[in-house]
Amino acid sequence: MPSYAFFQGKFVPLAEAKIGVMTNALHYGCAIFEGIRGNWNEEKKQIYIFRLKEHYRRMQDGCRLLQIELQYSLDKLCQITVEMVQKGDFQEDIYIRPLAYKSSEALGVRLHDLESDFLVFAIPWGRYLDVDKARCAVSSWRRPDDNTIPPQGKITGIYVNNAFAKTEAVSNNFDEAIMLSPDGHVSEGSGENIFLVIDGRLVTPAGYSSILMGITRDTVIKLAQNELGLEVTERLVDRSELYTAQECFMTGTAAHLTPIAEIDNRKVGDGEIGPITAKLQKLYSDVIRGRNAKYIDWCTPVYKK
Ligand code: PMP
Repeated sequence: MPSYAFFQGKFVPLAEAKIGVMTNALHYGCAIFEGIRGNWNEEKKQIYIFRLKEHYRRMQDGCRLLQIELQYSLDKLCQITVEMVQKGDFQEDIYIRPLAYKSSEALGVRLHDLESDFLVFAIPWGRYLDVDKARCAVSSWRRPDDNTIPPQGKITGIYVNNAFAKTEAVSNNFDEAIMLSPDGHVSEGSGENIFLVIDGRLVTPAGYSSILMGITRDTVIKLAQNELGLEVTERLVDRSELYTAQECFMTGTAAHLTPIAEIDNRKVGDGEIGPITAKLQKLYSDVIRGRNAKYIDWCTPVYKK
């Protein structure tokens, strides 16, 4: 069964969705992307797309930053996505990649006077950080501030920063980078937000620390508060707190909830998966697969019964 793309207004086999070499977005990083997961539920033989609307809402915000006129409404974007996944007939975890991009085949750095288009495709994708617990390093690359490139938008061009950090970490034999904000506080991973457990409370960098406001971050905050009765604080986080926290984990659509075992060659806690992290991991994994009735509204089923 081939994967499909929604491209230039219609569904086509993924292999046929090609853009021209002069496409503006390819040259200047002027596009907004999303990463959405469809999670396979074996018992129900169903794929649940997690928080679909919230992902497209964030994309709409990003498009406003880049002056991209999305020609589809929120509901239409969701409908196109569900239909495209149905066509693929996947029976496994998938990753959905929408992209709103400056589609004019015209060179010249600018946001104005360019056409835009929207595409989306889905591919099978299992684990992203392929480890049970990650070894991380504080990166020498910092997140840009809002007046450089706004980190709150999933702007393709900004991901050069993330790529520098990821490759530095991997070439130094770590799994993932932890980047600092321009003012030297903890910001986020190259594709994940970060949480610390300090004295039984959850602490995570706030919006002003150059983070992307992650949808998994929001999910975990809600689950921690509602299901575990935990206090969650969004604040400035010092680098040294990474070394003294009892537990630490990363969150992201691709990475799910990944425990962190080590930071800069120092063990986090005892280096094992901590009790709060383990509870949140279990809760999260049930919620995204449509196994928790209370949160089923976050899950869009793909296949009609
Ligand atoms: N930060 C960055 C830089 C990311 O790319 C991502 C992945 N989208 C996240 C955080 C996590 O966001 P989400 O939980 O919405 O996937």
